[in-house]
Amino acid sequence: MTSNNNEVRQYIDKVLEDIKIKNPSEYEFHQATKEVLSSLKPLLLKEPRYMQNSILERIVIPERTIIFRVSWMDDNHKIQINTGYRVQFNSSVGIYKGGLRFHPSVNLGIIKFLGFEQIFKNSLTGLSIGGAKGGSDFDPKGKSDGEILRFCQSFMNELYRHIGSTKDVPAGDIGVGGREIAYLFGQYKKLTGLFDGVLTGKGLNYGGSMARTEATGYGSVYFAQNVLKSVNKEIKGMRCCVSGSGNVALYTIQKLHTLGAVAVACSDSKGTLYHENGLDFETLKEIKEVNHGDLKTYTEIFEDSIYTPKEHYAQDTHHIWSIPCDIAFPSATQNELNLHDAKNLIANGVLLVNEGANMPTTLEATKYLIENGVLFAPAKAANAGGVATSQLEMAQNSSMVSWSFEEVDKKLKDIMDGIFKRAYETAKEFGCEGDLIMGTNIAGFKKVADAMIRQGV
Ligand code: NDP
Repeated sequence: MTSNNNEVRQYIDKVLEDIKIKNPSEYEFHQATKEVLSSLKPLLLKEPRYMQNSILERIVIPERTIIFRVSWMDDNHKIQINTGYRVQFNSSVGIYKGGLRFHPSVNLGIIKFLGFEQIFKNSLTGLSIGGAKGGSDFDPKGKSDGEILRFCQSFMNELYRHIGSTKDVPAGDIGVGGREIAYLFGQYKKLTGLFDGVLTGKGLNYGGSMARTEATGYGSVYFAQNVLKSVNKEIKGMRCCVSGSGNVALYTIQKLHTLGAVAVACSDSKGTLYHENGLDFETLKEIKEVNHGDLKTYTEIFEDSIYTPKEHYAQDTHHIWSIPCDIAFPSATQNELNLHDAKNLIANGVLLVNEGANMPTTLEATKYLIENGVLFAPAKAANAGGVATSQLEMAQNSSMVSWSFEEVDKKLKDIMDGIFKRAYETAKEFGCEGDLIMGTNIAGFKKVADAMIRQGV
């Protein structure tokens, strides 16, 4: 028995409408659920068991949402209060896994959108990992090391009781890098007396994995290589714009250069940097990763580079997307590439948009890019290298071994090739060859939904 078109459309629309009614101010979550559910239509038409088992209604509600107070003392001995979150979204195919974000914009809607996307991303890796996300509206910028330490300790004072190496394993995300993971891990260890793989992204001298730092950026470029190969092109010689200059952006730039492509621009929350002959990775790393500094200082070292502060961007645009390039790698944050940006990219002949950040492209921009023949690599597939390598870190922790950089990098590349293959072939199976959004969403969803059905109500 198959469902008919109207029935499926009404089912999807009803679930999306209910999400808006029950979670009125969670705009990013509305966007993420709309993007996924709308692309599942061909699957629901062909296989009615998902409707019969109320899978959509179930999958859009987290299994558990934890919201908690985080109070900590600043350097002036004043008590500061933030909100902490952990959304354990779905554990049908494995333990909860997903990063922690510390950024002033964090709210429940943002954590839910990230946790929801994480379900399908993790499923698509082919590994056994469920979906979760967490974080806080704490802003690490401008804080002393002592303040970051005290915040992380207070955050973990509540979080520790909800996580564990066979239960929920958080990692980093925006504002949570090696320093924060180390402080969080130290406090978890004090509270529980356990030295186990409860967090990933750990330092190499206390259980971290080689190549985890590089993994999301490298993986994003490996994915782009696969997309280009499917249209008989190669990455060598391509000019690229990579937004952001954090973890994902930096290692995207490094891998692009290794493969003979040229990254000409990057950005941060204050402005955009353009270097026609190619950005210098080591200098960028020193400024942003080591010194947590300002991108503008790059121009003091390379006088032929150009810095454009945010205040000079044309209205409603992000300057980086008006710079001509063959490949755009949005790798900073959500909704950083809008319809105006998409039009600028197309006018300058962009070939591929490869999402390094989570949901960086608005729904309107995505539609416009695709309608105009631009290749599109969605985040759930293109940036899955980070979480996949986190799982490799967990595997090394539990078996007490350490793999070399080359071994981990090779496994990462194989995983990214596998993700591309699954997304590409799924799209083909459903009559939409080349539509990687549909292929990614259907392949990621199917595995989780089938596990939910098998496991009962
Ligand atoms: P980082 O904190 O290391 O870097 C974020 C970068 O984006 C910084 O350059 C920051 O600028 C910029 N940025 C952040 N918010 C804004 C904003 N509102 N407007 C403009 N620029 C902004 O984070 P990551 O590199 O780890 O994460 C980037 C993206 O990739 C996120 O969407 C994250 O969810 C996603 N991701 C990360 C993974 C990982 O392994 N790290 C895995 C999968 C996805 P500034 O320096 O000025 O703050």
